Amino acid sequence: MNFHVMTLFPEMIRSGMDTSIIGRAMASGILSLEAVNIRDYTLDKHKKVDDYPYGGGAGMLMQAQPVYDCYHAIVQRIAESGRKGQKARVIYVTPQGKTFQQQMAKEFAREEDLIFLCGHYEGIDERVLEQIVTDYVSIGDYVLTGGELPACIMTDAIVRLIPGAMNDESSALSDSFQDDLLAPPVYTRPAEFNGWRVPDILLSGNHAKIREWQEKVAYERTKTLRPDLLGEQGDF
Ligand code: SAM
Repeated sequence: MNFHVMTLFPEMIRSGMDTSIIGRAMASGILSLEAVNIRDYTLDKHKKVDDYPYGGGAGMLMQAQPVYDCYHAIVQRIAESGRKGQKARVIYVTPQGKTFQQQMAKEFAREEDLIFLCGHYEGIDERVLEQIVTDYVSIGDYVLTGGELPACIMTDAIVRLIPGAMNDESSALSDSFQDDLLAPPVYTRPAEFNGWRVPDILLSGNHAKIREWQEKVAYERTKTLRPDLLGEQGDF
């Protein structure tokens, strides 16, 4: 799978993504990730990429031209690699989008190429968004200074679902949200810590009973912490 991130701060993407599981997956060729500097595409001789908003208002806006040309350069590179660049989904990370969830991560993990667009300042000229964006996605109802952290968060969640990215693929399948339940509590050695013992069932070696216990505890935990996942009302 190939990730392309359009950003004014490519170093934020690179430094957030080149370690641990994602770094390993990149090194092994399971995925590629390019952070593309939108500023490289501005036609302004002073390399300016932002301007004041029409109609007044606070802050600056990213201009349409550099974003548009950056997008087309990526699409062209994808096409030159023999894939269908025009068909790649373009995700604008924005607080105004649909909230990112595991189900969306699963859907995006099926794509061959994904293009992220990170805004900064007060956002991006609407006209280029209307021309190139296919998906508007938020990481939650709060406003950050830029889209780089949201793009890293989404990329991380998607990469875990790509076959071969995790050492043990079954671990992603037993995570929270995989089947609308939270994961059960987990324990490692020692069997006793500060006088607190690991539940006896986990030491029993009876895998059927252990599975039964984990399912029961996962359900109880979901009912307590996230009853909404079970279709129930909670006090949020
Ligand atoms: N003026 C915009 C608004 O009110 O919707 C907010 C702009 S925000 C300061 C700058 C950029 O950060 C956005 O263009 C977006 O790319 C990113 N961003 C901020 N909060 C985000 C969130 N919750 N989810 C995804 N992206 C976010």
